[in-house]
Amino acid sequence: MNERANKRLIIESHLRRAIEKNELFLVYQPQVELATGRIVGAEALLRWVSPELGAMSPGEFIPVAEETGIIQQIGDFVMESACRQARRWLDDEGASLHIAVNVSVRQFGAKQFVDNVRALLERTGLPVELLELELTESCIMDNVEDTLIKIRKLRELGIRLSVDDFGTGYSSMTYLKQLPVSQLKVDQSFVRGIPESGEDMEIVRAVLHLSQGLKLESLAEGVETVEQARFPAGEGCMIAQGYYFSRPVPVDEITALLRGRQRYTWQ
Ligand code: C2E
Ligand code: MG
Ligand code: MG
Repeated sequence: MNERANKRLIIESHLRRAIEKNELFLVYQPQVELATGRIVGAEALLRWVSPELGAMSPGEFIPVAEETGIIQQIGDFVMESACRQARRWLDDEGASLHIAVNVSVRQFGAKQFVDNVRALLERTGLPVELLELELTESCIMDNVEDTLIKIRKLRELGIRLSVDDFGTGYSSMTYLKQLPVSQLKVDQSFVRGIPESGEDMEIVRAVLHLSQGLKLESLAEGVETVEQARFPAGEGCMIAQGYYFSRPVPVDEITALLRGRQRYTWQ
């Protein structure tokens, strides 16, 4: 217990200065349209390389950022950098990529969240429909009434919303049908079970059918093999993301892919 608490304190104290010391940066993972192999989007994923602590994974430091409130500052940094980058890809490469940004519970819960996003879009000049916010099920269900209001406002602005890690939380279908989200991301824990686990395959199929029924887009996360792309594609999944296509990579690598008009021939 003590050791864990200690580690958290150490992470916290370094994380507070990480932004000003330029230790945080984003990598991007392509999102690939299965029918064409085109890159249609990119998810921004945060990385932190601390001179004192080494490379820290978001799984380690995001929870600390959430608990301590540092997430507000970090969230602003992520959203601003990602939108600026997407705008650059549009201007320099003529590529209109959806840029997917992860939003955590506390960040989304902030009173000024919608206003912040609106101001950010104005500041960066990113066409609103290119921004996609990823919210997890637990984030959505954390305070459903507040979520509904905010999501509707964001949709009115024209922003896309995606439910991340779908299937791992406990989404209420009652709310799901009222939520104007654009996309469900099938969680990688299920995709990983293809083809060994019949149960996982059934879950993937059910989620894909649900999303078709609700007229939502669907994306399979954590696709590592050709089977893990083929099976969802056969069940109507439109987009995939995972190491099979590309790991999350630095900005320049995405730029090079866009410049080369890269298409994945995967089937
Ligand atoms: P997530 O949003 O579900 O992101 C997907 C995670 O799966 C990423 O891990 C990505 O690197 C990893 N991944 C992608 N393809 C594959 C694959 O084929 N196989 C496997 N095994 N893994 C794959 P990462 O970058 O470590 O991020 C972990 C989580 O941390 C994210 O899960 C997200 O919840 C959170 N996170 C990352 N960046 C941010 C951020 O900027 N803000 C917030 N609030 N959370 C973030
Ligand atoms: Mg995500
Ligand atoms: Mg996910």
